[in-house]
Amino acid sequence: MIWFPYEQMKTRKEPWKILDAEGVYLYTKEQKLIDSVSSWWSVIHGYKHPELNEAIISQVKKFSHVMLGGLTHESVEKLSDKLQSWLPGDLDYCFFSDSGSVAVEVALKMALQYYMNQGETKRTKILSLEHSYHGDTFKTMEAGDDEDYHFVLNAYGPSPYVIHIPTEIPALEEAFLKYHQELNCFLVEPLLQGAGGMRMYDVAFLERARQLCDQYGVLLVFDEVATGFGRTGNRFVADLVLPDILVLGKALTGGYMGHAVTVANKKVFEGFYDDNPEHALMHGPTFMGNALACSVALKSIEIFEKQDYMSKIRRIEAITRREMEGFSDPRIQEVRMMGGCVCVEVKDASDLKGYQQFAYERGVFSRPFLNCLYAMVPYVIQEEELIKVLETMKEWFGR
Ligand SMILES: *Cc1c(COP(=O)(O)O)cnc(C)c1O
Repeated sequence: MIWFPYEQMKTRKEPWKILDAEGVYLYTKEQKLIDSVSSWWSVIHGYKHPELNEAIISQVKKFSHVMLGGLTHESVEKLSDKLQSWLPGDLDYCFFSDSGSVAVEVALKMALQYYMNQGETKRTKILSLEHSYHGDTFKTMEAGDDEDYHFVLNAYGPSPYVIHIPTEIPALEEAFLKYHQELNCFLVEPLLQGAGGMRMYDVAFLERARQLCDQYGVLLVFDEVATGFGRTGNRFVADLVLPDILVLGKALTGGYMGHAVTVANKKVFEGFYDDNPEHALMHGPTFMGNALACSVALKSIEIFEKQDYMSKIRRIEAITRREMEGFSDPRIQEVRMMGGCVCVEVKDASDLKGYQQFAYERGVFSRPFLNCLYAMVPYVIQEEELIKVLETMKEWFGR
């Protein structure tokens, strides 16, 4: 049987079976649902996109996969060239992997080894944010800070290798002052912390982090697995503040298949590039650079550019602000918006119990978590469809 994610298998509710999907819609036997979650924030172009389908079909006719150890192919070369020119600054060196968690692992390994290669063996610690989420593998759980996902780590006690701080500049300055000699990197979900509760913070915090990283020689790592490709209303937060390592996943392939990339700048790459074989990055996921994933990712980026997706996201944000401005209820703690993300945080998580079914009956697929009722819609959504998603949220509190 299928062992489903994040759920007690004994008491869980039956999942809805999807028979077809097209545009922003998921189809069950009896319902047509707007996917307000974009399949975990990844399906930015909607389902069954003709051009994305075609990219996969034409690649599959050549081959679906060849390993990247000792081999290369056109799709991975084109994608890395595209990312190199499309991403800001000198974020030019693309290490591919099969999921966001693995790509964050790669970033952390790069940061640690970057210093080891220079004989600096004391920089073993990661600075990270409270409520951060970086994936479900062990090191990413350790770097993350969310009991709801990672309580199994309690078995090990507190980690001596990770320092968590709130998104406040004084705490940031204090942490650098105290730990800078031991830090290899500052790992952050920039501007929007997703799975830890859709928390939003100001860019000034990241600007100060960049200064401190430069001052103390610590690498700045942006985990843009969730925020990349426009979700915050910026193409990448890396367009505002330049990190040393950037991690992309989720929407990289337009949500078509699992793939991710860890992109290093020149300084990081050069920390590995010399005559010593031991200075090589010893990592290589079996399916890194998968040809189907690379061909669909390249097409996804082309569509994002050609159809001016940033203007679509600005439109989503404007409609959301218009519809949600002034909306309140005694049960609501706060309504937050940023780019293509809106979150209604309730005071008591039990106030969201039953919402998923309520939304289902109204033709919206939603998946609240923690205290968050949120929407991260596909960017191709029409105005009336987006209004329906938001109206459904408001209606829940109006009962
Ligand atoms: C989803 C997510 C990950 C993990 O990606 P997977 O592909 O699920 O392994 C890592 N970091 C952030 C910020 C995420 O939102």
